[in-house]
Amino acid sequence: MSKQQDRIFLSAPHMGGNEQGYIQEAFERNWIAPLGNNVNAFEEALAAYNGVAGASVLSSGTAAIHLALRQLDVGEGDVVFCSSLTFVATANPILYQGARPVFIDSEPATWNMSPGALERALGEASDAGVLPKTVIIVNLYGQSARMDRLMEICRAYGVPVIEDAAESLGSEYLGRKSGTFGDFGVYSFNGNKIITTSGGGALVSGDVGALERTRFLATQAREPALHYEHSEVGYNYRMSNIVAGVGRGQLDVLDERVAQRRGVFERYYDAFGDMPGVAFMPELEGSKSNRWLTALTVDPEKAGVSHLDIIEALSAENIEARPVWKPMHLQPLFEDAAYYEHEDGWSVSDELFRYGLCLPSSSSMTEGEQSRVIGVVERLLR
Ligand SMILES: *Cc1c(COP(=O)(O)O)cnc(C)c1O
Repeated sequence: MSKQQDRIFLSAPHMGGNEQGYIQEAFERNWIAPLGNNVNAFEEALAAYNGVAGASVLSSGTAAIHLALRQLDVGEGDVVFCSSLTFVATANPILYQGARPVFIDSEPATWNMSPGALERALGEASDAGVLPKTVIIVNLYGQSARMDRLMEICRAYGVPVIEDAAESLGSEYLGRKSGTFGDFGVYSFNGNKIITTSGGGALVSGDVGALERTRFLATQAREPALHYEHSEVGYNYRMSNIVAGVGRGQLDVLDERVAQRRGVFERYYDAFGDMPGVAFMPELEGSKSNRWLTALTVDPEKAGVSHLDIIEALSAENIEARPVWKPMHLQPLFEDAAYYEHEDGWSVSDELFRYGLCLPSSSSMTEGEQSRVIGVVERLLR
C-alpha cells in the first residue's frame, strides 16, 4: 500500500484572488457590519451578470426560498408543488410556512421537473379547486429545467414560479441565464457551490418592489420609524458586508469556473462516455450547463459494477463521490406527501437515485488528481 494520498473533494471552494481586496476595503472604511458598499455592489453585479432587474443577497439560498414563499403569501395549509429530485433545502421552507408539499417527478432529458407530470398535477389540482400557491422548479447539477415549457404550463393556471438555481449559477438556457425564468430566482453561495462566500444566497427578480420587500423581511421587518416598529414577522437573513466582499471576488471569476467545471466533465466523458451501461447527465438542446457536478448513471447489469461499488472504491483511495440526491418523496420527512410520476408506473427520479452518482468536480482539481479518479473508475468498468 502506498501512503494515503491527499483527499479529493466532491466540490471544493476555489478563491479567485480579488476577494481579500474587497474585504480589505470594508475594513479600511469600517464597513464591517451589517451593510455597506460590498452588499450593494455585489447585488448590482449579480443582477447585471444575470440580466435581471435586481438582486437581494441573503444569509443562504434556503433563506431566499423562504422569503420567496413568504412574498407569494404561502401559509398554513397551502399547497406548494416542488421538484422531488433535489437537496432538502428546496423543500424545507415549505414546512417553515406550515404549507403542504406535493412532489413532481423528473423527465429523462433534463433530470429536472417533468412537464407531463406537472401538467397532470395542475390539472387535478384545478379540478379539485386547490391550486398550489407556487411551484418550485429546481435546476439540478447545473442543468436548466425545460423552463420555457414549465412556465407556459404554470402561466396557464396563473400559478407563480420560484426557480431554484442554487446549483446552476452561470448556466444558460435559450440565451438567458439560469435562474431568470421564474417570478423569483434563487442562488446559493454555500461552500460546495460553483462560487462561494463560505455561506450565503440571493433572490433575484424582475420585480424591484418585491426585492425591496425581501430586504425589509430579511432585516426583522423593521418599519421606517425612529423607534423600533413592527407589524409583521421578520427574519435576520441579510448577508454581511464582509461576506459580500468574498462574493464580489468570486463573481469576477464565475465564467472561468464554468469553463473549468465543463473541462472536468469533458475529461470524464472522454474517459468512459462510451463504456457499456454508463450514461452521463444529458445537456438539453439550447442549454449550457455549468456542470457544477459531473453526474452519471451506471446500469450494473451492463457495467458489471454498481454506482455504490464505484463510490466505495473511490472512498478507499480517499476520493469523495456521492449518490445522486435521494428524491424528497422517498424521504421519511415527507412520507405523507403526494407525488406525481413522469408517467404512470414510471418514476424517473427513483431510477436516477437507484443508479446515479456524482464524481469530484472542483474547478481547482488538477489533471493529475482527475487522473486518479479516472484510474479507479476505469479499473472497475473494465
Ligand atoms: C445548496 C442548495 C440549496 C440551499 O442553499 P444554501 O445556501 O445551502 O441554503 C437549495 N437548493 C439546492 C438545489 C441546493 O443544491
